[in-house]
Amino acid sequence: MRQSILLIYTGGTIGMKQDPDTLLLKPFDFSQISDEVPEINRFGYTIDTYSFDPVIDSSDAKPEFWARIANVIRDNYDSYDGFVVLHGTDTMAYSASALSFMLEGLRKSVIFTGSQLPIGMLRTDGRENLISAIELAAMKDDNGEPMVPEVCICFENKLFRGNRTTKYNSENFSAFSSPNYPLLADIGIHIRYDRNAIHSFLPEEGEFKVNTAMDTNVAILKIFPGMTESYVDSVLSAKGLRAVVLETFGSGNAPSLPWFLEKIRRCTARGVVIVNVTQCQRGSVNMGTYANGAILEEAGVISGQDITTESALTKLFHLLGCHSDAESVKKGMESPLRGEISLK
Ligand code: ASP
Repeated sequence: MRQSILLIYTGGTIGMKQDPDTLLLKPFDFSQISDEVPEINRFGYTIDTYSFDPVIDSSDAKPEFWARIANVIRDNYDSYDGFVVLHGTDTMAYSASALSFMLEGLRKSVIFTGSQLPIGMLRTDGRENLISAIELAAMKDDNGEPMVPEVCICFENKLFRGNRTTKYNSENFSAFSSPNYPLLADIGIHIRYDRNAIHSFLPEEGEFKVNTAMDTNVAILKIFPGMTESYVDSVLSAKGLRAVVLETFGSGNAPSLPWFLEKIRRCTARGVVIVNVTQCQRGSVNMGTYANGAILEEAGVISGQDITTESALTKLFHLLGCHSDAESVKKGMESPLRGEISLK
């Protein structure tokens, strides 16, 4: 049986071509993908395309857009072996994280990719990213099951767990990193899969289901030396606020300013879930290391452990969409849902 892949084209640089008259970059018609990248025919797969209309710059991504991608996957789940989502790089880490939470019991590969240079350009990275993503999405293990049953990002010869990624470079072809989790596959002459890092499907995960409920009443509060009371107030007094990603120093530390701690305490006391995420590029929050971390725990802040901000934010959207009480949201944040935090 021929493998079949659905390419979902949402926008971003990868789908741009230079208009020969105006020299401006314009989205091109992805249904003609095999004219543009004829190499993909050599796989011998059936490759169909689904194009968003209009396509977007990923800076315009939002929960409704994620729900659309999730629903396209749901509607086509039984007809394809795997899915490739072509997406702008700017918010790809947010979208891949969000999709990982929306898709429950996923048993097929959903591989996000894009590029730093448009596919119509001579030196584009899009061609290689696209070809690798298609191969990975179609790959089966010895039992004939999809090799990577996860939402991933494939970029510049690397396959990442989507909800572990962050875009860290706006210029290099190597634009993404996964600071706290190993690569799922390293794409060289051979594709080397790290089977220990790849999720193995557990029977208790149940049937594939799509849950697109999200509540975006979340704020990100980044602390910094010299922050003012009015800055903190403006974030914590946001109307309808239900949760905060608190970006702290080092292993989860914050200034010991009495006014700051009092505001945090009052906020958690009124049922707002505050999650401590480190501003560091790598590593985990541990509020038990320093007195300046312990004061946050005492004020009711919970640990985000080694989660990325992108993943913490979208996980909160998802949990708040599913639960009306703070306790259930807190419990959900403290345990891994789709491998987005490391088990201690
Ligand atoms: N602004 C573009 C986007 O995210 C950048 C890219 O695709 O790389 O849609």
